[in-house]
Formats: sequence, C-alpha cells, structure tokens
Amino acid sequence: MSTIVRVEAFVVAQKLRRSFHFSQWGYDHRAVCLVRVTTDDGRYGWGEGYGPADVVRAGVEFFAPLLPGADPLHTGALWQRLHARGHDFARRGVLLAALSAIDVALWDLKGKILGAPVQVLLGGPRRAAVSVYATGMYFDDEPNLTARLAAEAAGYVAQGFRAVKMKVGLGVAADAANVRAVRAAIGPAVKLMIDSNHAFSLREALDLVRRVEDCAITWFEEPLSPDDYAGYRELRRRSSIPIAAGECESGVAGFHQLFGAQAVDIAQPDICACGGFTEVQRIAALARAHGVDVTPHCWGTGIGFAVGLHFLSTIDMLPGRLRLPEPFLEMDRTENALRDELTQPRYQVIDGRVTVPDAPGLGVEVDPGRLAEFRRTTS
Ligand code: MG
Repeated sequence: MSTIVRVEAFVVAQKLRRSFHFSQWGYDHRAVCLVRVTTDDGRYGWGEGYGPADVVRAGVEFFAPLLPGADPLHTGALWQRLHARGHDFARRGVLLAALSAIDVALWDLKGKILGAPVQVLLGGPRRAAVSVYATGMYFDDEPNLTARLAAEAAGYVAQGFRAVKMKVGLGVAADAANVRAVRAAIGPAVKLMIDSNHAFSLREALDLVRRVEDCAITWFEEPLSPDDYAGYRELRRRSSIPIAAGECESGVAGFHQLFGAQAVDIAQPDICACGGFTEVQRIAALARAHGVDVTPHCWGTGIGFAVGLHFLSTIDMLPGRLRLPEPFLEMDRTENALRDELTQPRYQVIDGRVTVPDAPGLGVEVDPGRLAEFRRTTS
C-alpha cells in the first residue's frame, strides 16, 4: 500500500503581454495554485484550485497536515476528513477550492496507482473526445471594440470551433451591438453564448434578453449576482434564452440551493473550486434529478483543463435519447502560457473537439523546467 508523505502547494504565475478585462476587473497577469501529493513509493498526483492563488495556497497548507500517512486510494474518506476540518469556517468559497485542488491531485494519484485514466475511475467514457467552445471576446481599450470582437470570434471559427462565448456587461445597448456583430461574423451555424459575470440587475438582464433573443443565443451566463436566487428564478421564467450559472457556487449544498430555486437551465460548477471530482459527482447527480444540464466552468492551467475533459467525457445531456446532443467544455482562448506551456501533452482542437488524455490519472505531466520558471519568486 502507498501512503501519502507530502502535500505541496506551488503558485505559478505569468505576466500577460496584453491586459484585458471583463465586467468586474482586469487581468494583467495570471496566477494559479497547484498542488502535488506525493507517496512513500515516489508516486505523485497533481491538482489545482480555482481562486486567488495565494489564498488557495493558504488553504492547502491548512489541510496538508491531515494527509501524511493516509492511503491515497481513499479519496472519498479523505474528502470527508478535510471537509469536516474546514466545515465550521468555510462551507463554501476558497477553502473549498483548496480542498478541490487536493481532491483532484488524489484522483490523479489514484489513477496512476491503479493504472487507469480518471474517466475510467468516474465510471468510464461516453466519448473519447469532448466538444469544446472558445471563451474569449474580452474587453480592452481598442477604439473599435465591436469590430475587434467580431474578428476574434470569426478567428475561432476558422480554427475549427463550433461554439464561442463572448463577454457582455458593458451596458445593455453596447452589449447588444457587440452580440449582433459577433453573430453576423460567425454565421448562423455556430453556437454563441454570452456571459456577463453577474453584471446586471434583473431589469437590465431582461432588457438584454429582449434585444438579442433573435440572435440564437445558446445560453446567458451569470446574468445576475450569484446570491440573487429569486432574481434568477424570475429571469429564467421570463427569458426565452436559457440561463446558466454556477462558477461562483460551490459544494452540493450550494447547488441544492441553486436548483431548488429553479434558477438555471445549465449548471457550471468549476471542478477545481466546487469540491473536486468527489463533490462534482454529487452535484451532477443532483442536477440530473432537477433536469439541469452540467457544463463545467474551466479557467486555469493544463491540469484544470484535463479535469474538465475527464469529467465531461463521462456524462450525458438531458433528456436521454438515442441521438444525444453533446455536452461541451469551456476552453479559454486568452493568452495563457500556464495552459499551453506548463503541461504535456498539448491540447489540439480537431473538428471542434479535444481528445481526452488516456494515460493513467489525468494523463498530463507537469514540465519541471517550466514549473520552475513559472513559480513565483516569493513562493
Ligand atoms: Mg463565466
């Protein structure tokens, strides 16, 4: 039996060549907290947490002393041990992201010990490759932003993407003009989603729905504050566009509240924040019982993207039928060396899909040289 001997947190960071922003704040750099769990026989697994990197690292360091000596195959039991230790202080939020990072690393490690990809541990694949959509069309100081967004969207279609997601949240009139320009640029056959990152009031969100409902929008993501469950319920009741949310939600109890409010058509847990593989399975089961589809939020390194690929390769959209629509995974297309250069193998989009790595565990390896380069000098 392998036993855990070490849990380490690494903050990796990248300065961006060009800054960009969305409705809430801007990015001029990226920083992510990675976790490596190592056993006494020299095996290791990798995970990552979605949240402010230094705060996630503090959370990992809080949980880390609870793991040495434990059997890494006992992912569910270890999840409960860690969750019980944090339950009094942070039932949701960044401490759960730290737990998620450790849980993901344990699943990677479990797969490596058992010689099985994580998708097999999750019950086996429904598909070998996962449909992906391009997330981009952020805001910048370009004087003709509308034309720039339209050209960026058309570029993703030229790269083989069959679905794209753009940011809104500048204001209803400007957003509607941008959405129309992007829809015209990508043609009628490509799926288009819009994401405000909870920028709107209920009235503003309804106004935007009315202005763009003829643009064949696949979903309207985070129209309202994640705390406004009643607002979501009302918006969803009155909107002809499906409503998506969940990247700010965590834990099965949080999603229970979201689903109980009949707030969303599509749930978007971030597996590296909502509680890891262990908790997202419970969230997906709850979503199925409520008739809600699951399409994970995904924003991080090549490790986090592999997490999304493995999970989404194992689930189906609702309702079940012979010719199922495929679920599709978020693939951030903004400048991100942590996604493109830190891990192997590199991801390739072919016919709008990415093949799930089939090596044991997550099937991705962290490049030690690149890890050293991306590690914060302060870490
Ligand atoms: Mg979003």
